[in-house]
Amino acid sequence: MPFYSYLKLLLGLLIISTISSCQLIGKSQKGLSAEDPIVLDTMDLKFSLEKPLPYRPADQRLIDVIHLELDLSFGMQKEEVYGKATLQIASYAEPQEVLTLDARGFELEKMEIVQGDSSYNPKYTYDQQKIRIYLAYPLKLKDTLEVSISYIARPTLLEKGNGGAITSSQGLYFINSNGNQEGVPQQIWSQGETEYNSGWFPSVDKPNEKFSQEIFLTVDSSFVSLSNGKLMYSSDNGDGTRTDYWKQDKEHSNYLVMIAVGDFAIVKDHWRDLDVWYFVDHEFEGLANEIFGNTPEMLEFYSELLHYDYPWDKYHQIVVKDFVSGAMENTGAVIHGDFVQQTPREMLDGTHEDVIAHELFHHWFGDLITAESWAQITMNEGFATYGEYLWQVRKYGIDEASYHLNLDLEAYLSEASVSPKSLIRYHYQEADDLFDRHSYQKGGRVVHMLRKEVGDDLFFQGLNHYLVQNEFKSVEDDHLRLAMEEVSGMDLKWFFDQWYYREGHPVVEVDYSIDSASNSLEVRVSQKQEEAFKFHVNCSIGIDDSILQRRLCVDQKDDTLFIDLEAFPSWYALDIEGDMLWQVKENKPYLAWENQLKNSRLSSGKVMAMKAINAMPDRDNEHYQKVLLSLLENREFWLTKAIAGASLLGVDGLDTSAAMLALESLIRADKKSDVRSLALGVLDSLTVQDVNYSKPFVDALSDSSYMVLRSALSILMNRDACEAIKHIERFTQEEYKELLLWTSRIHSKCGAQTSLKFFEENAMEFDGVDAYMFNNDFTQFATKCDNEKVYDSLVKHLGKAALNESSWWSRISAVQGLEMAKAYYSSQIEIFEAKPEVSSDETERLAVLRNKRVSLSALIEESKEFKEDED
Ligand SMILES: [Zn+2]
Repeated sequence: MPFYSYLKLLLGLLIISTISSCQLIGKSQKGLSAEDPIVLDTMDLKFSLEKPLPYRPADQRLIDVIHLELDLSFGMQKEEVYGKATLQIASYAEPQEVLTLDARGFELEKMEIVQGDSSYNPKYTYDQQKIRIYLAYPLKLKDTLEVSISYIARPTLLEKGNGGAITSSQGLYFINSNGNQEGVPQQIWSQGETEYNSGWFPSVDKPNEKFSQEIFLTVDSSFVSLSNGKLMYSSDNGDGTRTDYWKQDKEHSNYLVMIAVGDFAIVKDHWRDLDVWYFVDHEFEGLANEIFGNTPEMLEFYSELLHYDYPWDKYHQIVVKDFVSGAMENTGAVIHGDFVQQTPREMLDGTHEDVIAHELFHHWFGDLITAESWAQITMNEGFATYGEYLWQVRKYGIDEASYHLNLDLEAYLSEASVSPKSLIRYHYQEADDLFDRHSYQKGGRVVHMLRKEVGDDLFFQGLNHYLVQNEFKSVEDDHLRLAMEEVSGMDLKWFFDQWYYREGHPVVEVDYSIDSASNSLEVRVSQKQEEAFKFHVNCSIGIDDSILQRRLCVDQKDDTLFIDLEAFPSWYALDIEGDMLWQVKENKPYLAWENQLKNSRLSSGKVMAMKAINAMPDRDNEHYQKVLLSLLENREFWLTKAIAGASLLGVDGLDTSAAMLALESLIRADKKSDVRSLALGVLDSLTVQDVNYSKPFVDALSDSSYMVLRSALSILMNRDACEAIKHIERFTQEEYKELLLWTSRIHSKCGAQTSLKFFEENAMEFDGVDAYMFNNDFTQFATKCDNEKVYDSLVKHLGKAALNESSWWSRISAVQGLEMAKAYYSSQIEIFEAKPEVSSDETERLAVLRNKRVSLSALIEESKEFKEDED
């Protein structure tokens, strides 16, 4: 699964960016800043554990589940599963007299065993977690038996987990089960990882257990179904239901078993002779190919790269409502959260193709070969994260891919700065705790370094060897090491010990000196962390127009290396490609950095140079701004342009008119919305004193990108919110729905009473997090107006929200608004009460105000009770 949960992400951003009364939210968000990459979940909860973490080895295998057959129907209203599970079982290494199966919260109805020639109803015990079945005859090695269990599962009643990447543990979810939620489709879908599928069928719910499967799904005829394997047939039962029969002959792990049922549009594509289908909401039927259309090309790319063809029956992807993770790599039947359903306009600012690539790459690393225990989860997730990089190099080029690889590094470093740990961890509390930036981002970067260590050809040969040797089995890191060692002839024990079992990373400072007599470059590498790391790192050296590369081996805390050169170098740099998992500071004179900036062929090298120069007090500002401006004009990679634009702000003695011209031209013509958006921000900073300068920002309101529009709106709002209102009428239209919250913020900041109409008209337009934001804006608007009519309207609209909103956080924001109104009425009452004499009119007013306060107090109390009940 990918790392983040979308809802948590939104909530995280919300808490960072809005009101200060966060204690009302009641959730801790540690170690986050606005600069953090968008991987915000799993970060809380884990830092206060005082007890030593328990040791959790791979589960001992007593039995081997060979085959699973499920026959399922559903009570949608009651959120029940009516199941019959038949498992074919053998003893694993020793004869067994007891079979233990995972089954959480079932009502068991009937159990039957067929063993040899006899069939019988066995004795069993059940503690709502595990069924222990006492066999009438020991199950000898090489013998098999069949156990059939009829049951009712009620997954919704299972306790919620507190995991990171997964927000609940019930295994199977019913969406809008009673059909009462207007506009919400009825769906049933599963989420098995980690050990959650035992919430809806009995089996051995461990990743090192693999089996083939058949699933019969009896569903309402108006619904479609999806599961792993091939759809063998569908039969109409003549009673408004249909039974779909799905079969997968190849073995996979229990957590990858998947079902989904609901009303979906199916868009059909193919790769070679395999079906590749996209199950989406009907309104996205016409867009499914834009969202998922690169999937066949990815299947071909990964199959060729690994010299191992995609091994499963088909590749379908389905988008479900309210998914509890980002996406999940169920074998041949991937589930995505509905955030992947973007409109073409949203896609202008970036897609979620990395998630699509990640889930597909799992079909080799995760589904075909599977981490044998959660301690080894990086063997799945590190590879899937690296799969995103491989696809980006192939499709979008090295600069784009390096940019993402660098985001992975930053994500890892931000987690490691708070909570460093080894990649492979056998000590942990909950399996879900392991789905973090170490297992994903550090894991991916370590795979990349392994590739650099053995070289491209041997690395991909090694991966193929690893896949072939372990296909349909479970693995640990040793399997990968042995495969790589066998193919490469190298000893890699040190690499795996260091990167998979040791915490941290090198923190390095580098100094250079050049002996101009002998033209030799001295590179002094000093490692600042406690114990030295061993690594190989590229040194790039610019001489005239060419760039030399030398690979250096560093294995001491203080290492000095010499490189003989034929001529004097104009620049030199370590790891210009950004391959290393490290923190590095290079001490070089300005000119070496400037030459690197001008001559590096990689955006990563240019970005490194700009970041270093920006931090240099003794830079040559005059030269530097020329280089920066030339980067803005050239056909540079978008990130280079973006950083160059931002770097202008720090240049002393900047030629402002030249910079403005360059930025204005980017805003008008650059293809990448990130660049246009950033250029707007820089231009704003350069011209902030000039109140009459607003044309580029107003013109940008016609841009096609939401990202650019948000930038422009934010700038106009901060310059003069009341002036900005003149330009935002169009953003209340349907096509700009995405921006409605920006208009509410602008109205709120201006605080003109004429904006009341906007708030009244849009009060019920939002739900969830958006409603929270809107309620805050409405409240701030009322505070600013400080007017009874506005407060009356606030009470009318937020009163409804405080009682009716489905999410607790938007109800809280509504109650906060009501409290503000109550304070206003009280202040007015106090003014009247303080008067020595009041007229009869004033007496009447006082009575009205007191009445308002009384009924408002009652409403607030009622809302709070409601809140406590719910939460
Ligand atoms: Zn994943």
